[in-house]
Amino acid sequence: MSRTVLAAVMPAPRVPVEIREFRAPDLAPASALLRTARSEVCGTDVHLWHGRLSGVPYPIIPGHVTTGTLDAVRGSIADVDGRPLVEGDRIAFFDVHRTCGRCRACTVNRAPTKCPSRKVYGITDSAADGLFGGWAQHVYLEPGVVLAKLPDAVSFEAYIGGGCGLLTAVHIVERAELELGHTVVVQGAGAVGLSTAALARYAGAGRVIVIGGPADRLALALEMGADATIPLDGTTPESRRARVLELTDGQGADVVIEAAGSARAFEEGVLLARDGGAYVIAGHYTNVGDSRINAHEHINRKHLEIRGCWGSEVRHFLRALDALARYGREVPWARIGARTYGLGEINDALAAAESLAIPKALVDPWR
Ligand SMILES: [Zn+2]
Ligand SMILES: [Zn+2]
Repeated sequence: MSRTVLAAVMPAPRVPVEIREFRAPDLAPASALLRTARSEVCGTDVHLWHGRLSGVPYPIIPGHVTTGTLDAVRGSIADVDGRPLVEGDRIAFFDVHRTCGRCRACTVNRAPTKCPSRKVYGITDSAADGLFGGWAQHVYLEPGVVLAKLPDAVSFEAYIGGGCGLLTAVHIVERAELELGHTVVVQGAGAVGLSTAALARYAGAGRVIVIGGPADRLALALEMGADATIPLDGTTPESRRARVLELTDGQGADVVIEAAGSARAFEEGVLLARDGGAYVIAGHYTNVGDSRINAHEHINRKHLEIRGCWGSEVRHFLRALDALARYGREVPWARIGARTYGLGEINDALAAAESLAIPKALVDPWR
């Protein structure tokens, strides 16, 4: 194969993204070439552009969650159940790859998202190594990457509208250990918070309250399945807490989920949980500074359980696909991807994501 592939490359933090030509790779046995249909620009890409993630091998082709059609396959490839995948199939792939399954994190601590061999398309793979990011017309699916057929009912736009935020939300709901009727407060109305509101309902939550902004995102949160929203605009931490208590019969939430990425949100969240409740921290993907916590007042005396949530595993990817297939008629995932950009417009898309003008920008590299 000698055709050229266009890709948007982030040369270094704070440097404009530029379009470069790559040669289509020679396929190793049991690998494939994806023809990209949609990728995304999410909060992580803004962090990458700000240089706030460690261990990123710039230059990179960003775009971690990506979907499309199998363009070329060498040898045989299959999904996790051994069902063969062939050229022309609409597929999604798990962006995390090379998790070793043999190290201490993988085997003893059972925390494979902390495996030191782990790589992530669009984040920790370098453009020098090839087409390992979704802001490109084609993506190289190396041997061992977890692949899945996109369910017929799931459009490319719905899959990427959910995207990485939906995978994170599946993990959050698992960490939240929700029980039937639980009241849940979600801090943050970005892509993660919106998908979490939707999934919490299906996981048994009796009442879901989303705190965030701006107003159009809170309106979307209600359509995604939230029962009530509390705007950040025009309220104070005290008035928001009073509203949460009002909505939870004076108890506070059984589970609070932090999907805001703010040190102030953490300080507020511990006070929104009921005594003996749980708090899942998912939004602190980068270091946003210290929070002021009084261990006696906020954790010990409250008997509060605090759980981190880092990265995703294969089961979150596959359950995200199930959720899209099963609930996609009721939950407007495609609407999270508010606008679609071509490769030449990526810097505009990054600016829109940076200013929080839209929850998520979609990328169509063939536009
Ligand atoms: Zn490992
Ligand atoms: Zn993402």
